[in-house]
Amino acid sequence: MANGWAHDGAVLDQIEDTVTDGVSTARARLPSGPGTEDCVACGEDIPEARRKALPGVTTCVACQSGRDKRIVVAGINRRGSKDSQLR
Ligand SMILES: [Zn+2]
Repeated sequence: MANGWAHDGAVLDQIEDTVTDGVSTARARLPSGPGTEDCVACGEDIPEARRKALPGVTTCVACQSGRDKRIVVAGINRRGSKDSQLR
């Protein structure tokens, strides 16, 4: 996990405090696959440069930067949104 995610450490700590949301949120955040072409939170295209810089990234810049403020409220909505985005 030393591939450019270090600056997100504080956010990850916050996620782990909210265990219920933390499972799905952390899975969406961590680079564990090819990532997505569209943001799982808002559906916008993720720029190719960003996907190359952050392998496995699943959110656009705007959503990732706002995520620490929305973690608790966005948990349920994001799950529904992600399911629809996968189709
Ligand atoms: Zn987004």
